[in-house]
Amino acid sequence: MKTLLILGATGDLTGRLLLPGLAQLVATCRARGLKLAGAGSSPWTPGQWLDRVDTSFADAGLRADAAGKLELKRVLESTSYHQVDVTAPGLLAALLARLEAPVAVYFALPPQVSQKACEVLHPHDVPPGTRLVMEKPFGSSQESARQLNELLRTLVPEDHIHRVDHFLGKATVLNILGLRFANTFLEPIWNRNHIEKVEIIFDEDLALEGRARYYDSAGALRDMIQSHLLQVMALMALEPPASVNERDFREAVGTVLRASSIKPPYRMSTRRARYTAGSIGARRVPSYADEPGVDPSRNTETLAEVEVHVDNWRWQGVPFILRSGKALGTKRKEALVTFLPVPHLPQGFTGVDSPNQLRIGFGPDTLEFDVDVNGPGNIFSLDRVTLEAELNASDLLPYGEVLEGVLTGDPLLSVRSDTAEECWRIVEPVLEAWERGEVPLEEYDAGSSGPASWAGSARPRQPHGAVEAGQ
Ligand code: NDP
Repeated sequence: MKTLLILGATGDLTGRLLLPGLAQLVATCRARGLKLAGAGSSPWTPGQWLDRVDTSFADAGLRADAAGKLELKRVLESTSYHQVDVTAPGLLAALLARLEAPVAVYFALPPQVSQKACEVLHPHDVPPGTRLVMEKPFGSSQESARQLNELLRTLVPEDHIHRVDHFLGKATVLNILGLRFANTFLEPIWNRNHIEKVEIIFDEDLALEGRARYYDSAGALRDMIQSHLLQVMALMALEPPASVNERDFREAVGTVLRASSIKPPYRMSTRRARYTAGSIGARRVPSYADEPGVDPSRNTETLAEVEVHVDNWRWQGVPFILRSGKALGTKRKEALVTFLPVPHLPQGFTGVDSPNQLRIGFGPDTLEFDVDVNGPGNIFSLDRVTLEAELNASDLLPYGEVLEGVLTGDPLLSVRSDTAEECWRIVEPVLEAWERGEVPLEEYDAGSSGPASWAGSARPRQPHGAVEAGQ
């Protein structure tokens, strides 16, 4: 790519995530010769834009070697800002024509604006080699995602479309694949015969943080589960790909998502809740309904949990419980696999034999395996220990990895078109049932662990929890 054009240059995503990610790439000489252009509808001066880029680049500059420093300086000297209403016919096309091709166009815009910007582009406006980078949410339903896919394909080929899901960086994806498929001990037991349930949890201790404009019309199910958590689930559940190239890997993801669904009655398979006033540590948090910009009558959930089933030979009957929420007391970002209990514990042991659990923590990536051992003290008594390991991280920020994929033309981490549609297909019936009021909107205090009725929220496949050993 010769040019990275960021639409939405004045926005939050660009300042907080995209430019720092880009700075790392430039500072490590992985974006040699790249030109950076920014566009927004605000009348920013070139100086304002330069200040924004400079601030992000300054940090990376401190760690760069001489060649990296030179690259950063070169990008800073050549960057430009363009005041453009991208929804006005012809304006984005004219900007594209002025930039050095091939151009990667990053749509860091509100989703409706991105959609409109693509609608006013004609195929002949888009120079050969152009890549289009679409942020989440990709569409707002299966049908709208399908239409957006169709529209984008009239502009560039599918392999030039990058649908970003920044939740899982490359290292995390490869860490899970490595753990599952580079070890013989896990794969033989990674199925319904040995696993009771898989939970994928993203609990945030942050509340709304002024994002009502976006979040109040999204909610936890659309914001987190529809995109990010289903992607994590796919990694946990997919069949062994023959290689980790994008074709094999994304096909395996697509296959497992096509087999996945949330089954009615949704009162049993889903739940939702909204936080009320409370404290998170020393912070007082107002009730979600009282947050500025929130319309309480929308009944937007700030905590959602769904039970997904993967209907195939490996997973039939194993619940994949996906949960995400805001303003919770404890931050938790992990996949937790609970194995079935042993079929028989030799008599003579005392204490409680709890099922093994494997926990993969995300950001920083960690691995924990809970096993029963003997002692201490009484060697007949069972005790619990956790085997822990830190998994290796990438040297890039997640958005550095996203941009590297875009600039090198590697779609491995980009969501494939059919997958973007499948994820909506999975959650849409739930959104509709919630809209009809079939599932009550419960409440929890900010800073708590969720509604009291959710405590001990396991949904076991069979009534077999911990096994009491013979005394
Ligand atoms: P912001 O509201 O902060 O920024 C939106 C940007 O769009 C502004 O730069 C604005 O420019 C520009 N814009 C709006 N209308 C037009 C127009 N007609 N022509 C040109 N530019 C326009 O949004 P975010 O940065 O938060 O989000 C952008 C995208 O990234 C969204 O899809 C969001 O879902 C996604 N995202 C955001 C994350 C975040 O943490 N912020 C995280 C993950 C995804 P101006 O002000 O000059 O009009």
